[in-house]
Amino acid sequence: MTDTPLFAPREPIFPKRVGGFFRRLKWWIMGITLGIYYLTPWIRWDRGPNLPDQAVLVDLANRRFYFFWIEIWPHEFYFVAGLLIMAGLGLFLFTSALGRVWCGYTCPQTVWTDLFLLVERRIEGDRNARIRLWKAPWDARKWRLRVTKWAAWLLISVATGGAWVFYFADAPTLARQLAAFEAPMVAYATIGILTATTFVLGGFLREQVCIYMCPWPRIQGAMMDPGTLTVGYRDWRGEPRGRGSAKRKAVAEETGAQDARVRYGAGVDKDVAAPRQSRTGETLGDCIDCMACVNVCPMGIDIREGQQMECITCALCIDACDDVMAKLGRPRGLIDYLALDDNPPVLPGEHAPVRPMGTDATQGAETGVPAPTAAARPDVDDATTNGAIGVEGRTATAPLAAARPFITEHGEEWRPKPIWKHVFRPRTILYTIAWAAIGIALVVALFVRPEIDLTVSPVRNPTFVTLSDGSIRNAYDVRLRNKHGEAREFELSLTAPGALRVDLEGEGDQSVIVPPDNTWLQRVYVTAPPEDPAAQTERTPFRIWVEDTVSGERAWRDTIFNGRESFDERTGNAG
Ligand code: SF4
Ligand code: SF4
Repeated sequence: MTDTPLFAPREPIFPKRVGGFFRRLKWWIMGITLGIYYLTPWIRWDRGPNLPDQAVLVDLANRRFYFFWIEIWPHEFYFVAGLLIMAGLGLFLFTSALGRVWCGYTCPQTVWTDLFLLVERRIEGDRNARIRLWKAPWDARKWRLRVTKWAAWLLISVATGGAWVFYFADAPTLARQLAAFEAPMVAYATIGILTATTFVLGGFLREQVCIYMCPWPRIQGAMMDPGTLTVGYRDWRGEPRGRGSAKRKAVAEETGAQDARVRYGAGVDKDVAAPRQSRTGETLGDCIDCMACVNVCPMGIDIREGQQMECITCALCIDACDDVMAKLGRPRGLIDYLALDDNPPVLPGEHAPVRPMGTDATQGAETGVPAPTAAARPDVDDATTNGAIGVEGRTATAPLAAARPFITEHGEEWRPKPIWKHVFRPRTILYTIAWAAIGIALVVALFVRPEIDLTVSPVRNPTFVTLSDGSIRNAYDVRLRNKHGEAREFELSLTAPGALRVDLEGEGDQSVIVPPDNTWLQRVYVTAPPEDPAAQTERTPFRIWVEDTVSGERAWRDTIFNGRESFDERTGNAG
């Protein structure tokens, strides 16, 4: 027996605010996805009388799915199946090209956690203030801040649960019913469950959902390969890490390096935040060990330790490190989107102080390789000249900028593969083709699907009856779907050899009126006179036609007429 606990207690994570290209991109994606989710049920779409005017509606009672001008009936579920397959293939595509880009940018858990963090930061302050508050005793101030935060989270959670139920009923009507406590109990129960899950998952479980509850991190490993772009640390550029000068130390303190100890917990890896390098003249890499990348990470991991299952590739560590590099006047991209197969030719065991070309005045001294002249490297590393973007008020080169050459310690020029070579690979092209093929097939199916839907089922018990005059009669169940908002009259007719006649049960003629937006089941009799070949033949194929008398649209189904020969003389059974 051992006293070691099975589960390590959760260490709270206090992600620091960060600015930059990827942070802004995530804000935009968060705004767009949340906007779509909350507002879509309120979009109106006129479909005519007797049909709902909500643009997106899952009408469970009538078994319909409305999406703007598209209406999916239960028998057309293959459209939904096709969309699900496309969603799955899309995930394969994006994962094989860009790793866990779904997790980092658009997964609801990420989006709502981001929103909750935004609220938390507004109320309790940034990382250091939140850590102080976490450690502080439960006095009046702490209660006030916590209750305010929880109340804001609760409001967001109720809105989230509320928005969900609006997808399943007319939103304005349901909103009025909810306010007057007249809505169905299932609506209140659904809102309650979703409010609770949003509050707990977004507010308290956060990274625990990604690490322990979600299967996706395990599955994604099978979809990624060494050519997949993912967030990584260029250790050959950053190592050996350390703070080698007063300037670097100042930067480290400004970016909150000392806070790293809190993240790792008392007594655990305390020296992570401490300077690892003495100033003995040893050549240092670009990483100043400031911990900015760790402090902004919502998963609380250190990307410098290599690819980890916990990393959701949110790219915030890229922004943080780019910011530091900008302060130091170094090129961005120490942490970057990169592929594992895209490393410079450094021999195993070598700790090569590989340098971006000409970015370090000491390069020649360190590597023995003379630094190239500016004329020989027109595209490199001047933060002010290469597609510069602002990072927290400073200047840094644009993310995913053109690959720059590096000089290895052997004097060889090496540059990372361009981004497009990672994105456009046989595997991703194959996924794209499969994805597009299904999409095109669905669109074609959508536009060629008939307005009249007709199914014909022969009644098998018995397969035929002999009438008093010797005629043979078969029965069929004909299902007609009227997809229009008004009642429609449908007329049935036959294309058949001989003198087959069609009659509708309960109708005086060959037509039937189907109510709006409805499916109508009609028993139909087809009769062959006694001497007709169809009456004498075991199986006679024929065609049932239906015509919309208003629009003139027609549809047909082929079926079989069973004659006398299908009577089994030995057993006395029909068929
Ligand atoms: S932010 Fe960049 S420089 Fe700072 S510790 Fe991380 S990798 Fe090193
Ligand atoms: S290491 Fe952290 S901050 Fe960086 S991409 Fe992964 S989850 Fe995001």
